Amino acid sequence: MPKLIKLILTCCLCIMITGCGVTHSNKRTIVTTSFPCYDFVRAVIGDTDTFEVKMLLKPGQDMHDYDPTPHDQIALTESDLIVCVGGESESWMEDTIDGLKKDVNVMRMMELVTLKEEELKEGMEAEKGEVEEAEAEYDEHVWTSLKNAVTIIDAISHEIATLDDDHKDDYLNNAHAYCDEIKTIDHSIQTIVAHSNRKTLYFGDRFPLRYFVDDYGLDYYAAFPGCSEQTEPSAKTLSQLIERVRQDQVKMVLTIELSNGAVAKTIAEETGCTIGTFQSGHNIALNDFNAGKTYVDLMKDNAEVLKEALQ
Ligand SMILES: [Zn+2]
Repeated sequence: MPKLIKLILTCCLCIMITGCGVTHSNKRTIVTTSFPCYDFVRAVIGDTDTFEVKMLLKPGQDMHDYDPTPHDQIALTESDLIVCVGGESESWMEDTIDGLKKDVNVMRMMELVTLKEEELKEGMEAEKGEVEEAEAEYDEHVWTSLKNAVTIIDAISHEIATLDDDHKDDYLNNAHAYCDEIKTIDHSIQTIVAHSNRKTLYFGDRFPLRYFVDDYGLDYYAAFPGCSEQTEPSAKTLSQLIERVRQDQVKMVLTIELSNGAVAKTIAEETGCTIGTFQSGHNIALNDFNAGKTYVDLMKDNAEVLKEALQ
């Protein structure tokens, strides 16, 4: 009989171990495309264990040249909820959803807030082939506004709560706490801007921050529009930017994360200004991702950079 008991115990142990594995893989999934979507969902879920959140974009990868793998397509098909930006650089997402054999539940951040049109500001280099476009396109970088982030997180929390009523209060409370953190930074950025003499930012890079600057009444100059793939400005664009930085006695020119920073470097060499990195939040570097850096952390970094850039 002891042998039989041993066998039963071993079986029980096996079931427990594999059972754990099954529970894990049986977690319902929320698939997100880029970092802001991932971060907002992660904050809402907190330490509840119903959902697993996946980010399709790999840390450090450029959102603008992402293509879904077959594995990603399966993840989308099997998800309980998809949270994406809903902009032009995710047009692959609409194509993928159209091709899926089942209905999927999709939240597009762009459908949750008031949109602004893309802007081609004086001195900015148009994308090749975009000059003659008659129809204005909406700027997709909605998450760069902290006020938008609060609206989006609130909407996400209510959607997730409808999918898992048992943890409804957890989701709503987590969202509330995270939004409070965002509001605190929003307030400190307002204070920084109010106490700065300079109200203009100078980007030797592409500029995906229209929603951000509009929130604080800041003006800007930049080399390229938000999602531009160009990294080489014309001599005219570059010389205009250099001239402006010189004229306005700018102390810091900005570049955005994961950029090669070439334009900012040239401006700095020509004018003697320093270079600061602004986090647009499209994505984050692998080491920051592994360290658990959040949207709130990125915005805290931005507040520090702003202090210097607005001097
Ligand atoms: Zn972009």
